[in-house]
Amino acid sequence: MAKLCVIGSCSMDLVVTSSRRPGAGETVLGDSFKTVPGGKGANQAVAAARLGAEVTMIGCVGKDSFGEVILHNLKENDVFIDNVEPVTHRESGTAHIVLAEGDNSIIVVKGANDLVTPEYVESCASVLHTADMVLIQQEIPVETVAFVSEFCATHQIPLLLNPAPARDLEASVIEQATYITPNEHEAALMFGGLSTSEALRKYPNKLLITEGKQGVRYFDGEQEVLVPSYIVEAVDTTGAGDTFNGAFAVARAEGKSLYDSIQFANRAASLSVTKFGAQGGMPKRTDVEASL
Ligand code: ADP
Repeated sequence: MAKLCVIGSCSMDLVVTSSRRPGAGETVLGDSFKTVPGGKGANQAVAAARLGAEVTMIGCVGKDSFGEVILHNLKENDVFIDNVEPVTHRESGTAHIVLAEGDNSIIVVKGANDLVTPEYVESCASVLHTADMVLIQQEIPVETVAFVSEFCATHQIPLLLNPAPARDLEASVIEQATYITPNEHEAALMFGGLSTSEALRKYPNKLLITEGKQGVRYFDGEQEVLVPSYIVEAVDTTGAGDTFNGAFAVARAEGKSLYDSIQFANRAASLSVTKFGAQGGMPKRTDVEASL
């Protein structure tokens, strides 16, 4: 069984659907409202646990009703939550999502996710030492990403960095990570001066660019490889990248080849977009294996 440690955000998504979004100073009547647990860290942890990994989450939530639901949801999905700290001085992280006019607008309030500091992660160091792979994203402080990269490189712990949402990354962080998984938009921002091919060649077998329904592209040292995704009827692509990352880490930590791990993760991610919500469509191991 693969042992994974996910360091990242745990949030509540507050989702409104409306025929149109309000302008400044305007009130409109919406159609529906849902609260669903989210946050890139928690999503990736749930994706990996559903696929059979032993997953420990390192994060922070508020000591409030959202925090309780977030923790309950992680537990229900068999994610270990001893290292998710409920704090009294910050509210749980939230994402305020409006689905209107065929597009979404999102305001993220980081809340307690801002307290996932280097010091906090260091206090959980024993979890990192026992992990086959560590996963991290960018909804937590930038210093924490730098600290974890350095820590994993020093202790030779494989690190998967999902650079989402996009922000400037120090070159050392890119060098230290084992895998980096931007989507096309994030890759364009990160490697602005380079074409996609140039960026891929610069980081062979490390930079894996996810290209939505096309699949995933990387450079294997000799040639550019596109691992195609699967044709599905997409209902909601929220969380596709999170499912991809969780699934890729499971497969790679179990010893599958790079190509086979990407293929496994494409299958898991393509299944996830056929249902509503980031976590709603995340498949179980048997669903993926039955359809590969
Ligand atoms: P993000 O969700 O981070 O924006 P992508 O849109 O690149 O990332 O999606 C991540 C992965 O999810 C893709 O590489 C692919 O495997 C899968 N995926 C996403 N959208 C679809 C789709 N419409 N059909 C099939 N697979 C998809």
